[in-house]
Amino acid sequence: MNDILNLSALELRDAIASGAVTSSAAVEAYLAAIAAHEQALGAFTQVFADRAREQAARVDADRAAGRPVGVLGGVPLAVKDNMCTAYGRTTCGSKMLANFHAPYTATAVGRLERAGAIVLGKTNLDEFAMGSSTESSALAATRNPWDTHRVPGGSSGGSAAGVAARMCAGALGSDTGGSIRQPAAFCGVVGLKPTYGRVSRLGLVAYGSSLDQIGPMTVDVSDAALLAGVISGHDPKDSTSINAPVPDYLAGLDTPPPGLRIGLPREFYSQALDGEIHAAIDQAVEVYRRAGAKVVDVSLPHSRIDVAADGALSSYAVACYYIVAMSEASSNLARYDGVHYGHRTGRRVEDIIELYSFSRAEGFGDEVKRRIMLGTYTLSSGYYDAYYNKALKVRRLIAGDFARAFGDCDVLLCPVAPTTAFRVGEKTADPLTMYLADIYTISVNLAGLPGLAIPAGVSPAGLPIGMQLIGPAFSEDVLLRAGRLYEKASGVTRLRPKMV
Ligand code: GLN
Repeated sequence: MNDILNLSALELRDAIASGAVTSSAAVEAYLAAIAAHEQALGAFTQVFADRAREQAARVDADRAAGRPVGVLGGVPLAVKDNMCTAYGRTTCGSKMLANFHAPYTATAVGRLERAGAIVLGKTNLDEFAMGSSTESSALAATRNPWDTHRVPGGSSGGSAAGVAARMCAGALGSDTGGSIRQPAAFCGVVGLKPTYGRVSRLGLVAYGSSLDQIGPMTVDVSDAALLAGVISGHDPKDSTSINAPVPDYLAGLDTPPPGLRIGLPREFYSQALDGEIHAAIDQAVEVYRRAGAKVVDVSLPHSRIDVAADGALSSYAVACYYIVAMSEASSNLARYDGVHYGHRTGRRVEDIIELYSFSRAEGFGDEVKRRIMLGTYTLSSGYYDAYYNKALKVRRLIAGDFARAFGDCDVLLCPVAPTTAFRVGEKTADPLTMYLADIYTISVNLAGLPGLAIPAGVSPAGLPIGMQLIGPAFSEDVLLRAGRLYEKASGVTRLRPKMV
């Protein structure tokens, strides 16, 4: 059984296809891992054991009968609980949707299932994906498998912890400002945030619609390529999804991008960055240099991080992101009023306004309320130009910086987060310190670009360190090949916490 948990999703797929392993055995192995670790980690909001067993039996029967089982035939995966599934509940980690049964399945999840994957369960997240630690979930607190006193990152913390602890062969997360990449870094797994429009958002519960994107979280880069290939592509039901062919990400994966030029955004290597992360990235730069890549200095002036004399950090990108994301969130979350969607108050009410306000006051947690209030303010007449409109201008400047940088390099190499996983409770008292955990990831969403987080080693304290590769729009294939090059040249891949 343990042998199964040592396989990547790709290897498991091959083992099932060749008959070396059955899908039923794989499902049992992962269910046993969930039984062993779920209490300590709280990675899942729901586990669909019976459904998974039935599906696995069907895959095994199909295979035995010589029928095709799909490119993910029989592989057990997990999906973040802000993606709709026509079975089980779609909670978004919120009391508001604790009993929500979605009428349909998100396109990305449906694509996995059509490729033969088995959805083993749904994973925990910060409420409505708003957060960087998975502490704001109303349902459970997810812990980091490398140290259960630490957060797994967020908001896709359940997916990251689940993959790191081998409770599923891979998972989907969503990334609005770093929610795939930062938890991937904190838990020592790979996370890909695709180009905006590459993956359909249909059925992804909206947070910041101009920023949200679904992507894979996996044990290595090959698995990220496998899952990205399955979930990407045009969806006529999502008008922001792009109608462009999806390359075969696996086919060229072992061919390093020819003449690779790596750009180091100098603004990201400041005092704000932990020394041990800086050192790990310096080593990664060396790995690329030795592999023949050219390393150049580039500048992203509007993503600069300022450090005040008292150590306080500030960044245009963080300010800009939190105005855009909260404005969009305030609009997207208006539908949860106890009538159209969501928790309805049990209190006696005088009128519809009271019904709305009691329902929303009871259904939403503090962080979500904070964002709805701030977002409503930045969109209100009289303040719209000063905040929202200005943020859109800054967003354009940030995107322009990236476009210029990609004149001199093919990919950018930078940190994912300024620190390794922080302690549970460390940043909950001061929301601003939590928002600053996103300084290296949010510009990518503002510019709509793809970003790949991969493990770059383990700190002296035994916590995983991540690094980030960023490329121009639709350069996922280059990012994945550059990531694979690093894995092979450094040997840093498939990190395992001690608990598994
Ligand atoms: N931490 C960021 C936020 O709270 C990003 C979250 C995300 O990407 N969903 O908005």
